[in-house]
Amino acid sequence: MVAIGIDIGGTSIKGAAVKSNGKIFEGFSMPVNKWESSETCIRKLTVMVQNYIERHQLADKIEGIGIGIPGTLDISSGTINYANNLRWENVRIVDLMHEILPYQIKIMNDANASALGEARFGAGKHHPTVVVITLGTGVGGAAVIDGKIIEGNESKGGELGHMTIVVDGEMCTCGRRGCLEAYASATALTRDTKKAMLKNRDSLMWKLAPELNFVDGTVPFGAAKQGDPTALKIIDNFVKYLSEGLLNYCNIFRPNVIVLTGGIANAGEILFSRVNRYLRAYNYGYKFTPKVEVIPATLGYDAGKIGAAALFFD
Ligand SMILES: [Zn+2]
Repeated sequence: MVAIGIDIGGTSIKGAAVKSNGKIFEGFSMPVNKWESSETCIRKLTVMVQNYIERHQLADKIEGIGIGIPGTLDISSGTINYANNLRWENVRIVDLMHEILPYQIKIMNDANASALGEARFGAGKHHPTVVVITLGTGVGGAAVIDGKIIEGNESKGGELGHMTIVVDGEMCTCGRRGCLEAYASATALTRDTKKAMLKNRDSLMWKLAPELNFVDGTVPFGAAKQGDPTALKIIDNFVKYLSEGLLNYCNIFRPNVIVLTGGIANAGEILFSRVNRYLRAYNYGYKFTPKVEVIPATLGYDAGKIGAAALFFD
């Protein structure tokens, strides 16, 4: 069984054929030109997919085409309501592609596609209940149970990053206060790092980022690895809020594993050892509740394509 998985990003569109065991073929990619209309871009994509299918002689093997899209979607009608990064509005992507491609086409949110790919074929495979959390500019995530993503009514649920962890806390991008995203995203970590640097002029972090404009999530982790006390405090504080969020997911879903992905997850052992220690210390039910392991993602940028294709693997 083979399906095509497509990952639409802010600057490029990537796709590949994926086997039902998660094995991915050599793929294709095309740039997204912001000055082109959404229709032009999707027509180019459609031709590219058609050529790809012909070149790989997949025409009678394809189960369908799955597409991960960054934005608000109407999945039942195959419409992109709004994609902020692309400035696309009310785009009937499935109808447009069906003008040429005679296959079943399904769309889903791009973060959910990555989570599904990672849960079924990446770090979460072999586990029935998996929570995948992306720690990037924002915090996204999804729970995948028995290979199915929990999306809720109109597939608009699963906003795991917008769980309140501090009532009246820091402002969040969603307009509310105190969401996990406002404490555990790269944006939040950068904000807290800048604050701490201004108070601690002797911190090693000033060597890694001589100006505040250069600060990103790698700065506190880099300095903490070298023992900088200010950076270590920032990391411990970050881990506390992140772990409190993860403990909430544990209490709701009781996953076998939690998979962390996104830029901050690249911090490695310094992050994972602390988060796992925190979860073990505060796990609900003491030793009578199954332990939850927090582990790094393994599929990298392929997760979105594999997850979108996985919509056809049941
Ligand atoms: Zn929020």
